[in-house]
Amino acid sequence: MTRLTNLFLSTVLLASLSACETQEAAIAVQPSSIFAQAWNSGIDPDEPAFQVQEIDANTFVLRQSLRTSFEAPFLYLLIGEDKALLIDTGAEGADTRAEVDRLLADTGHAGLPLVVMHTHGHGDHVGGDAGFAGRPDTIVVGHTTDDVAGFFGIDRWPDDVGTLDLGGRKVDVLPTPGHHASHVMVYDAATRIMFSGDAIYPGRLYFVCEEAGEYAASLDRVADFAEIHQIDWLLGGHVEMKAAPGQSFGQQDKSRRGEHLLELPGNALGDVTAAFAGIGDYPRVTPFPEFMLLPHPADPAGMSPPDWCKPA
Ligand SMILES: [Zn+2]
Repeated sequence: MTRLTNLFLSTVLLASLSACETQEAAIAVQPSSIFAQAWNSGIDPDEPAFQVQEIDANTFVLRQSLRTSFEAPFLYLLIGEDKALLIDTGAEGADTRAEVDRLLADTGHAGLPLVVMHTHGHGDHVGGDAGFAGRPDTIVVGHTTDDVAGFFGIDRWPDDVGTLDLGGRKVDVLPTPGHHASHVMVYDAATRIMFSGDAIYPGRLYFVCEEAGEYAASLDRVADFAEIHQIDWLLGGHVEMKAAPGQSFGQQDKSRRGEHLLELPGNALGDVTAAFAGIGDYPRVTPFPEFMLLPHPADPAGMSPPDWCKPA
């Protein structure tokens, strides 16, 4: 999400939050297929700034605590034989570099060259960049489309797919503008995971009304990619949905008990693609079981849903 503030939206969302407590609790204890622990909920005042869970010995997920940012973004660290790749640096309010340095040291990878990239340039994904300035053997990829295309060798943006070789582990970088101009998804063949940023995640899929078509085209290209690459899971930038289908937390809720799992199965790509294909000429706020379409600008010219994107 971005720092979109919308009182009306919050009211709409909050009005529907209370009904399913029992069902939500039952769903919330369903175990993850990937992670050993539930993600921290923000309730514990002593919650650490980052919670780290491993997918395998060379793949780690860092969740920035809700106590440091309501965005509570997820960051990903992939380790190859020659270099490590950090996908996103989080929101301001936590020392991402210190956490990454600790993690690399604890896993015997201190001194491994590091590439820092971003799914996109919104503040809650690049907020920790400054900490990496001057770090030895470290490249921080810039935030513009040209920066991203240049670094990953993407000649024709957004149609081509870039790559980065970490040593015994290659990732593909897919341009997916729509949520943000330089948005990319990152596919890791080693884990068959698509790191999907804010384009697909269990939460409010935000887009500027005029860019809905670009978003949909990006999803179509990812679907083409999925025809020839097995995607087991989509891991995105946030969780904002509750475990109860179609229910979301308020944007700035500091506690997220009963949160939806982070991971979405690969076939969720089809669900999101179909949702975008069906939004019509005037996109509106539309809840689905595992995500929500959130057009912007909100409430132009005093209009309210379902016609937020309708020209005045
Ligand atoms: Zn975000």
